[in-house]
Amino acid sequence: MSNQDLADLIRNVPDFPLPGIMFKDITTLIGNGPAFKKVIDLLVERYRDQNITAVAGIESRGFIFGAPIALELGVGLVPVRKPGKLPAETYQIEYSLEYGTNKLEIHRDAFEPGARVLVIDDLLATGGTIAAASKLIEQAGGTVVELAFVVELGFLNGREKLAPYSVHSLIQY
Ligand code: IMP
Repeated sequence: MSNQDLADLIRNVPDFPLPGIMFKDITTLIGNGPAFKKVIDLLVERYRDQNITAVAGIESRGFIFGAPIALELGVGLVPVRKPGKLPAETYQIEYSLEYGTNKLEIHRDAFEPGARVLVIDDLLATGGTIAAASKLIEQAGGTVVELAFVVELGFLNGREKLAPYSVHSLIQY
């Protein structure tokens, strides 16, 4: 199964969540067993020998991909969550979107000292979400090894905005 086969399984949903937006729907990809497995295998293969000690998944679709990757790498999963969801002491960050702001949180004690963190989300658009998540991860003492995505909307130039972080994606539009 090629990366193009994976791309063909992503559904385009027009006008979601707002008029004029073409939403890339990964439910049709993860609903296909061999395709879901291929996505996980490709990412695990890339990170197996990079001394990753934790995977950070971004709520909520980052959890779907982050969990099996962490399991395969034999490391823990750290959830980066929307505010008010994590029960213990957290760090919080607020970041701007096109309209308004959003917040993310991480547990203060999420990482062991010296943690080497692989950060996972389903999709890179402008990069605002993952940039904020990366700051939180560093605040909690983690070192970001790479930012990994299943889908990258290249025309939004998120990758440039995220420099000098290293960015990896399986499918680009
Ligand atoms: P960014 O912060 O602009 O890079 O937006 C990325 C965040 O928004 C990620 O958490 C994505 O899950 C979500 N997102 C934005 N556009 C899409 C889309 O077309 N499909 C799925 N998720 C999206």
